[in-house]
Amino acid sequence: MNILVINCGSSSLKYQLINSDTEAVLAKGLCERIGIDGSQITYQPAGGEKEVTVSPMPTHTQAIQLVLDALKNEKTGVIKSLDEVGAVGHRVVHGGENFTASTLLTDEAMKAIEECNDLAPLHNPANLIGIRACQELMPDTPMVAVFDTAFHQTMPEEAYLYGLPYEYYEKYKVRRYGFHGTSHSYVSKRAAEILGKDYNQMKTIVCHLGNGASISAVDGGKSVETSMGLTPLEGLVMGTRSGDIDPAIMEFIAKKENLDITGVMNVLNKKSGVLGISKLSSDFRDLENAVAEGNELAQKALNVFYHRVVKYIGAYIAVMNGVDTIVFTAGLGENDKVMRKTVCANLEYMGIKIDDEANGKRGEEIVISTPDSRVTVMVIPTNEELAIARETLALV
Ligand code: ADP
Repeated sequence: MNILVINCGSSSLKYQLINSDTEAVLAKGLCERIGIDGSQITYQPAGGEKEVTVSPMPTHTQAIQLVLDALKNEKTGVIKSLDEVGAVGHRVVHGGENFTASTLLTDEAMKAIEECNDLAPLHNPANLIGIRACQELMPDTPMVAVFDTAFHQTMPEEAYLYGLPYEYYEKYKVRRYGFHGTSHSYVSKRAAEILGKDYNQMKTIVCHLGNGASISAVDGGKSVETSMGLTPLEGLVMGTRSGDIDPAIMEFIAKKENLDITGVMNVLNKKSGVLGISKLSSDFRDLENAVAEGNELAQKALNVFYHRVVKYIGAYIAVMNGVDTIVFTAGLGENDKVMRKTVCANLEYMGIKIDDEANGKRGEEIVISTPDSRVTVMVIPTNEELAIARETLALV
């Protein structure tokens, strides 16, 4: 069966058509600037050239229509008719406490997702718009929602409750949820498969380090802790997000800089992290190049990032009372050998030893620790689209 995977944001939409039998990507691409002037669609069939076409997309429905047209295009398309799309899998950011797993998109499920809009006001409404647009154009095709939060719903109460008045949890469901769940789940399972171990017996720490970054502790196949919270702002120092701070800083900065709460939140989400510290860039490649030229602020930003990663790994070893495997994934986790080496150098007390040659390889699933390392350290490229396609297949 062919499964269309859709990741819909407020003005952009990423898509992949995946054959669920072979797990091959038949075509993929991206619509940008939906609802804004200068919209364009990128389309790339497997083994073919990438095409970029400027085309008006006042709404998400028009964007999805263009995606379907591209997939069916006589010359470069990969299917003849929409009948060849057996199901659509949608990434949905927040499932709150309503969803502990992926779900078929019934009217009831749509309502339950809508109830979570408050928890992710930038993401969930956009995800819902994408789902409705697909339903309009493909009314008879089954659709599935796969949530970023669902995998972490197994966290115990002591991990997900904040030290806040309990009534905020009762009234508003203010608690820790965690994100990147599809990736943490895919990567931790993949580690067990590669090592030939029983997933239900493993203690794994997954470091999903990209522009947005989170770490999780997966014990016996269940997420028991993760660094992001009510929103993806908590936890690690990220590209532009602050991660954990003393909450009193918010009032202090608001007064000093004459900002309201929205202004402070904008700083914490968009102007902080390694960008904020370095005054230079949120991209680690830029920072590493700057360090090579002697830029001290770039070095400080990297040091703060590394320190926070080490701190979380240490904390999660304590939470699980041990660890068998540590896995690095996502843009930075998969590509940055300096980061991996620096972080692991701080874990020598655990008997962790890194094989420099293996650590220097890129783009493959690989064990980067030495055979005598007490903990296995791995790099596993994440594949959220494939994970969504698998979940979708399982439900339809
Ligand atoms: P997201 O999906 O959260 O936007 P990604 O997982 O795509 O992020 O990661 C993007 C980040 O990965 C970039 O901002 C960059 O900092 C980092 N990155 C990618 N390639 C490299 C590399 N070769 N060396 C260091 N960092 C890299």
